[in-house]
Amino acid sequence: MVSIFKEDYSFMTKYLVFGHKNPDTDTIASAIAMSYFLEKQGEEAEPVALGEVNDETAFALNYFNVSAPRVVTTVANEVSNVALVDHNESVQSVEDLSEVTVDYVVDHHRISGFETAQPLYYRAEPIGCTATILFKMFVEHSYDIPKAIAGLMLSAIISDTLLFKSPTTTNQDENAAIELSKIADVNLEVYGMDLLKSGTDLSSKSETELLNSDAKNFDMDGKKVRIGQVNVVDFEDILARKSALLDQMATEFMAAGDLELSVLIITDILESNSIGLVVGNDFAAVEKAFKVPVVEQQLELPGVVSRKKQVVPQLTESYTV
Ligand code: MN
Ligand code: MN
Repeated sequence: MVSIFKEDYSFMTKYLVFGHKNPDTDTIASAIAMSYFLEKQGEEAEPVALGEVNDETAFALNYFNVSAPRVVTTVANEVSNVALVDHNESVQSVEDLSEVTVDYVVDHHRISGFETAQPLYYRAEPIGCTATILFKMFVEHSYDIPKAIAGLMLSAIISDTLLFKSPTTTNQDENAAIELSKIADVNLEVYGMDLLKSGTDLSSKSETELLNSDAKNFDMDGKKVRIGQVNVVDFEDILARKSALLDQMATEFMAAGDLELSVLIITDILESNSIGLVVGNDFAAVEKAFKVPVVEQQLELPGVVSRKKQVVPQLTESYTV
């Protein structure tokens, strides 16, 4: 006799849900929101993080009274199935990703170096924030969003779009943020500036922390490029530390051994401009990508605020012959 039911009910899938290394506010908020979404769908899910939260994310978690997700460095020792948010590139994910089954991806980045053996739920949209996609998923399913989770999702949208000033911003992001601000019961503009400024006090940060708190690796036509980004409210204080930053970048560049280029994007969130600091063997690709000279390992990037849209594609194209 053949049963149409699973015989062993003791095995219930538990998902670990996580975003990229060096987590930002979207990665943390979306891991929490996606876990809640999966639980609404009857799954067991836990948000985890691939690193400690940054100051901005800590501000949002504290504001809405939510604990930071547990930090993990591997996942296969705990679960066999995972859900990815806010990333898909294996170089940005957990080290043992190849040892687990990815059943869900919700993301708003380019797709690179990602493949699975099994079919999966994969939702990618070219909009400003993963949390906006999740907001749409909640709406589509008529799921309520608890106040604290709405506040975190709102924070993610503010963070990723720099309060709608990034060219990655779409109407969907603005509309989602407005709706989420109502649920979270905050003034969007006031809370938004407070949140963004909470991530700009760099005085207590070491050079290593500045370089790595929001750094990501990218494969560009077989070349490995590391791009970090820091937000400031003016360039003066951070440029006073330029030589120390370049020294540390050079040290990390040599230690990595396989890097083609290391970039630090310093973004003035009030003026929507950036300055780049670069370490590498050759800056021809950088000058070609941004059509500006590299002078003393520094380049001006006027109007640039988005790594995803205004840095990665240009550099990738420059490296791709
Ligand atoms: Mn992110
Ligand atoms: Mn994001």
